[in-house]
Amino acid sequence: MKNTLVMKFGGTSVGGAQAIAQAVAIIRGERGAWQNLVVVTSAMSGVTNLLLETAQRAARGEMEGIAAAENRLRDGHFSAAEALLSEEPARRLLTAELGALIASFGELCRAMAVLGEASPRALDAVASLGERLSARLLAAALTAAGVAAQAVEASQLIVTDRNFQNAHPDFAASAVKIHQRLNPLLEQEQIPVVTGFIGATPEGAVTTLGRGGSDYSAAILGALLPADDVWIWTDVDGVMTADPRLVAEARTLPEITYSEIAELAFYGAKVLHPKTVRPVVDAGIGLRICNTFNPAHPGTRLVANPPAEKVTGRQVARAVTAIRSQRLVTIEGRGMLGVPGVAARAFGAVASTGTSVPLITQASSEQSICFAVPIEAFEQVLRALEAVFAVELRERDIDRIWSTPEVSIVTVVGAGMRSTPGVAGQIFSQLGRRGVNVLAIAQGSSEVSISLVVNSAETETAVKSLHELVG
Ligand code: ADP
Ligand code: ASP
Ligand code: MG
Repeated sequence: MKNTLVMKFGGTSVGGAQAIAQAVAIIRGERGAWQNLVVVTSAMSGVTNLLLETAQRAARGEMEGIAAAENRLRDGHFSAAEALLSEEPARRLLTAELGALIASFGELCRAMAVLGEASPRALDAVASLGERLSARLLAAALTAAGVAAQAVEASQLIVTDRNFQNAHPDFAASAVKIHQRLNPLLEQEQIPVVTGFIGATPEGAVTTLGRGGSDYSAAILGALLPADDVWIWTDVDGVMTADPRLVAEARTLPEITYSEIAELAFYGAKVLHPKTVRPVVDAGIGLRICNTFNPAHPGTRLVANPPAEKVTGRQVARAVTAIRSQRLVTIEGRGMLGVPGVAARAFGAVASTGTSVPLITQASSEQSICFAVPIEAFEQVLRALEAVFAVELRERDIDRIWSTPEVSIVTVVGAGMRSTPGVAGQIFSQLGRRGVNVLAIAQGSSEVSISLVVNSAETETAVKSLHELVG
């Protein structure tokens, strides 16, 4: 028997009674093969968006949506409970618990409406409710199916800093709590069903790890238990050569290297949260991504980076991905030539707005600095840059700070690029043939990816035509 497995189920994998029944069957199927099983769950699909949108509208004084959202939450969760739990007492107990959580959501939203404000801390309290509901539902469904399970709030396991909405875990403090809370359950052969996405500050305020963060929760638990394997159950057959929603011909990659998955996740492949890779790799545990709705498919396995000579036999370009809704910001002026510290001040100003920069392009001269920022942040970024360079702008050392209309970052990933010349050439000629205009380029420092910035209207054409290079 193998030792410890962490299985994470994503939003669609617990999106309704049928999906949950499927997840229960998968968990039951693995139970005999592992000494310890830990389950991590996302909120039912669409729930986190509903919670956050309702709270944000409430904070703007729009209270009409609150009751409707409560009804939708009750409908979704209660109907699944009805279908999955045949015994009346268990069902009544569960719906009472779920009902209380949904009522607390309504109260939080009404409080925000009164205050006219939604603080990051309050939004985390609201957002955490999705996982707190689904974990109870899944644990009850397992119990009803004869699999001993207990819902566990990750606020009791994962200690984070106070950076609400994008909190950073304290691994050492979390390890202590995880062992304290989970070991007794595991010894009693109970399956802990842990809420993904959430943690808590040392004082106990609930935090979230960033959107899509349940994958990260599974990686943190996997690294600290430690587990032998972490399996991410989602709604596609593993990591594919492109988002199958965009490219119908996309195929599953049976194996992917550490650096390839890290680049793919960072550059927009939603299938895995980018923070998932690091703890898994550092702890040396296995990672598999597989399909709840096609469990017989082996999915994708993460493998150590093979030496360059082994990679050369493979297709060089392995996958294509895109991040939408960006703008390119450029700072330009001849007065910048040779002036030290301009870049440091520019990125200091960007950082002061809390914006992260997914791409910086290398200019051939020192006369401009160009980088991408998410579209929702660009006005704030421009203002911060104008403030920090007020003197240079006045004295015309900097001519202008400007941004493009909406663009996308399209990235081709493949570990073989490091040792294969001419890949960039192939990429450009392919885009040239399709008439896609490349606004900027950047190569990842690990040389396993090349990113191109294109107009947002050309995203799909760019991804599809570059996918033809993926053998
Ligand atoms: P979950 O709720 O299970 O976490 P997500 O919606 O977060 O699922 O991620 C899965 C989705 O990621 C897929 O449905 C797919 O549309 C998208 N996706 C984007 N790029 C890729 C890729 N390269 N391979 C597989 N899926 C991808
Ligand atoms: N429910 C959270 C979200 O939608 C976390 C996750 O699904 O991974 O962002
Ligand atoms: Mg996800």
